[in-house]
Amino acid sequence: MISIAIDGPGGAGKSTISKEVAKRAGIVYVDTGALYRTVGYYAREHGASVEDAKTSEVMTPMLENITVELVYENGTQHVYLNGEDLGDKIRQPDISMYASAVSSVPSVRAFLLETQKEIARRQSVIMDGRDIGTVILPNADIKVFLTASNEARAQRRYNELTAKGVKVNYEDVLRELIERDAADSGRDIAPAIAAPDAIIFDNSDYTFEQSVEFIMKLINEKIGG
Ligand code: C5P
Repeated sequence: MISIAIDGPGGAGKSTISKEVAKRAGIVYVDTGALYRTVGYYAREHGASVEDAKTSEVMTPMLENITVELVYENGTQHVYLNGEDLGDKIRQPDISMYASAVSSVPSVRAFLLETQKEIARRQSVIMDGRDIGTVILPNADIKVFLTASNEARAQRRYNELTAKGVKVNYEDVLRELIERDAADSGRDIAPAIAAPDAIIFDNSDYTFEQSVEFIMKLINEKIGG
């Protein structure tokens, strides 16, 4: 069994790179951001403002009405909210802000903790998020803190959203990314920071393939002893 923790800010390529590494290494890819997005989606659907979604007064009672399940179908992750697969509904830019808001609430983090730990107990995983190397898998075999310049990250996120048909402009994407990173890395609980034993990998000037190879090399070194 091997466990790999990939943390870092939005748009650094954590999910696309991790997904490809999972495929090549024959292990499971776990996207933990999807869990926070799902709780954020519920908060928005139930009338919470982004400001409300940052408070435990609003979020803690809501959690009583939520079940979140992580299910793998043909190797692809699906997150079920109260039995419903939300699919791409959690990928909208405003859901990113809601996800970031709810993720600063301690009861929300506690609510999602065991689901994440449990999945890595059962199989080899590459898990991406913000606190994987620090909180969820402190004993991970490999920890990478993946980062890139603000501009590189905004451009990638812009391309990704545009390709999905979501209408956005680059300046808004850049501003939103910077705002969300500041909130994620500055929060009191589980801030998005590199674990002391993480390898910091700035991939601004790397292609997707080079980034994948960088992590594959770490895996091969580990497996090879
Ligand atoms: O990775 P993604 O952009 O989908 O994550 C959405 C939000 O969920 C992040 O901005 C962050 O606030 C939160 N998150 C977190 N801890 C994780 C994964 C995501 O706080 N492990």
